[in-house]
Amino acid sequence: MTARAKNRHSISLRLAAATVLLGLIVSVAVTALQVHVIYRNQVESAREQLDEIRQSLVPSLEAGLWQVDRGRTRLLLDALAHTPGIGYVQLDSEGRHVTRGQADAPVLLERSYPLIHDDGQRFDLGTLRVVIDSRSTMTRLRNAIARELLTTTAALLSMSLLLLWLFRRWVTQRLKTMATYASELDIERLQTPLEWPKRPSRHADDLDLVAQALNQMRERMLEEFEVRVRHERELQQHRERLESLVRARTAELEDKTRQLEEKSRQLQELANTDSLTGVCSRRQFLALLDQELARAQRGGAAMTVLMFDVDHFKRINDTHGHATGDRVLVRIAECCREQLRRIDVLGRLGGEEFAVLLPRSDRRGAAVTAERLRAAIEALVIKSDQGERISITVSIGVAELVHPDEKPDTLIARADAQLYRAKHSGRNRVCVDDESTL
Ligand code: GH3
Ligand code: MG
Ligand code: MG
Repeated sequence: MTARAKNRHSISLRLAAATVLLGLIVSVAVTALQVHVIYRNQVESAREQLDEIRQSLVPSLEAGLWQVDRGRTRLLLDALAHTPGIGYVQLDSEGRHVTRGQADAPVLLERSYPLIHDDGQRFDLGTLRVVIDSRSTMTRLRNAIARELLTTTAALLSMSLLLLWLFRRWVTQRLKTMATYASELDIERLQTPLEWPKRPSRHADDLDLVAQALNQMRERMLEEFEVRVRHERELQQHRERLESLVRARTAELEDKTRQLEEKSRQLQELANTDSLTGVCSRRQFLALLDQELARAQRGGAAMTVLMFDVDHFKRINDTHGHATGDRVLVRIAECCREQLRRIDVLGRLGGEEFAVLLPRSDRRGAAVTAERLRAAIEALVIKSDQGERISITVSIGVAELVHPDEKPDTLIARADAQLYRAKHSGRNRVCVDDESTL
């Protein structure tokens, strides 16, 4: 049996038990009252009987004793002893004791009558003692108690059964209906109200009110649930809208960032690259020189810088035009790249002036490279718009890093000085910085 079923039964059983107990208490009290009343009535009637004896029998007995009529006295005593309820009779007269009945009979009431003859002068004739037997009274009391208990128990049992039946019908079954409904109630069943017989409001009892309250609670829960579902749906829609907005914004931002990065990369490239020749710009060359110089100084490696300038370039411009001059600069740059290693850096410092950074090269190796460059540029075949060959030469200055604390400016200045020397010593040549000049 489940705990719930136990509880369900215990309510009705407890009610029945309480009814029986209450009934028993009441019946015991009523029986006690009845016994008390019966007892009092018995005592009263015994008292009346004793009074009657005094009135009717005592005078006859007194007369019999006065007249010394023993037969009459005996008859009277026998009659008295046989009277219902009289348990014992004792006559004491002139020193004689005459008794009737049982001396040990249980006493309900007893009385002693003085026996007197009075004809103007009083004569004491003796004493009559009469005992009313309590046994018949007790028997009546027992019967009354048994009768009372029997009828009360029967009445109580039938009343309890009736109450049990009514309780089950009116309360337990309806409570069970509510309990089953409440225990099976879930979100899906919120739609279905508790099935409860409708009664006019004036006949509605407490359980009808509880069922009504249960249904009202169900309706409130349903409403709240629907509101919550609506809110959650709206929230979900908001969330989705926000997410798509954020996605779109993120994509837009990513796109913008990509564009900006591209622009910045292009700008950087523009800043780092010479737009005409595609070699490093002055800025980028000086930055790379800074880095390379620091690395070479840290590692104690050799490093050389070349600076070269196109000879009489103004004349080329003047003779063949500025555009041809540009083309010459582009070809010179291409030619240099072909001659240089991958680790070498070529930069255009401005106008027709270039510089080359040669890592891990001392001035001897650099001089060879410079000479190779010079010769290659001289050998370039560049035609003017008119088809004439333009002869091009360059003057190159070479300076090697020899001082561990030397700054890029002085290194460039030394290379520039050698370039100047090359110009002034006839152009189209390579001049190498001598270590002793430091
Ligand atoms: P030198 O042998 O002493 O170097 O003589 P040079 O004529 O080369 O020297 P100068 O400095 O007098 O002339 C350089 C010329 O280079 C002047 C300028 O017009 C020209 N120039 C500078 N930048 C450019 C350029 O980007 N394109 C062209 N076509 N010419 C340029
Ligand atoms: Mg110049
Ligand atoms: Mg020049």
